[in-house]
Amino acid sequence: MTADSDLLIIGGGQAAGELAAALRSRDWGGSIAIVGEEDHVPYTRPPLSKAYLRGEVEAADLYLRRPDFYDRHGIAVSAGVAVADVDLEAQTVTLDDGRVRTWRKLVFATGGRPRRLPDSILRSAPNVHYIRTLADVDRLKAVRTDGASFVVVGGGYVGLEIASVLRSLDAQVTLVEAADRLLGRVTSPVVSEFFRRLHRDRGVDVRVGTAVVEYQYSDAGNVIGAVLSDGSRIAVDQLLVGIGIVPNDELAARAGIDVDGGILVDRFCRTSANDVFAVGDVAKVTDLDGEPPRRLESMPNAVSHARVLADYLSGVEQPAVDPPWFWSDQYDIKLQSAGLVVPDDELVIRGNPDERRFSVLYLCDGVVTAVDAIGSPADYAAARKLIAQRVPVDAGIAADPGRRLLEAALASAGTTD
Ligand SMILES: Cc1cc2nc3c(=O)[nH]c(=O)nc-3n(C[C@H](O)[C@H](O)[C@H](O)COP(=O)(O)OP(=O)(O)OC[C@H]3O[C@@H](n4cnc5c(N)ncnc54)[C@H](O)[C@@H]3O)c2cc1C
Repeated sequence: MTADSDLLIIGGGQAAGELAAALRSRDWGGSIAIVGEEDHVPYTRPPLSKAYLRGEVEAADLYLRRPDFYDRHGIAVSAGVAVADVDLEAQTVTLDDGRVRTWRKLVFATGGRPRRLPDSILRSAPNVHYIRTLADVDRLKAVRTDGASFVVVGGGYVGLEIASVLRSLDAQVTLVEAADRLLGRVTSPVVSEFFRRLHRDRGVDVRVGTAVVEYQYSDAGNVIGAVLSDGSRIAVDQLLVGIGIVPNDELAARAGIDVDGGILVDRFCRTSANDVFAVGDVAKVTDLDGEPPRRLESMPNAVSHARVLADYLSGVEQPAVDPPWFWSDQYDIKLQSAGLVVPDDELVIRGNPDERRFSVLYLCDGVVTAVDAIGSPADYAAARKLIAQRVPVDAGIAADPGRRLLEAALASAGTTD
């Protein structure tokens, strides 16, 4: 039997688009189909909470490839339709419009969806926003901002970036974070504190260690107030919820594929089922040389998975994988991060947070494992090399901002070149 496609990708986001393009750039000759539930060809999300929300770029500027790329390269994109069911034995998927498609190899690139506040706390209300898609941000862009009161629930990167854009559009912004610091899951207290002060100085009312305990509604069903755990009440015109994402792994689980807070894969993105793969935010990599299984939510991670899988399917030797990296833009500040921060790491601070130009190196057993660089691209570039090469550094020497980081690291390792 001839399959409808040699490779069928479920999901039409960053990982799906990158995978299809990477396969074609490697001259992979099979037929490729992408089935994505959003009404767009694959696009990139990071600008949604930055330039796109600010109105500086158009939707078409976010597309990974122009729409005609897919036709020209024999990639069949079905947009606006979801895969409702997967049958591994029959090698079919059933779409939500009832059509059935056959495949030889299947890829889950289903990403994640925003974690929702429980319905018991929050009824769905017209002025409540979750931010994941172009459609979500278009909805947010349609509301009046100047002088309006926005409450952002959640102090992660997406919430902070949106708060910074809203402030620049003259909105009143209150940011409520239940944990005792911003970005608590991903960075050190010194970086959390930097961002708390940055937002406070730009006029955001930042409330950390505070949760919303009650929402108040108008007769029309809009949220008009939030009561906080410290007893205070804030007025709400628009409520934004940014409390993380949930991986879209249920479809895979129903098909009998192993999942555990994400679809479990090995370093080649292979799932527990033959000829079935998973990439991007939904994939949780299990064989990490003794480290615990890890699921990352970042654009570079989606690109890296796509390349690894394209190589694997093309029979090309596996390239070295970069340490994870990430960036965030808030106001005029750029944060660049690489590696993963672990709570017990030794911290080396280079430069001065008050000058909005500093970097934090994270050391484990004397080796740099992660970096957060604020306004310090040279430190970021040097630290990425140190992380990849596992060069041991002397914390005292590395902390000296008068020395270039790479030079300091090599000096402390007793190397001059
Ligand atoms: C506002 C915002 C800002 C961000 N900023 C940054 C940043 O600055 N830096 C960074 O590194 N990362 C950033 N990210 C994260 C980054 O965008 C994600 O890590 C990346 O999009 C993951 O790509 P993906 O293809 O795995 O998943 P997604 O982009 O989520 O794509 C998955 C797609 O699959 C579709 N889908 C799911 N189930 C089905 C189904 N059953 N059938 C058909 N389609 C389905 C979904 O609708 C979605 O379109 C940001 C994310 C957001 C939301």
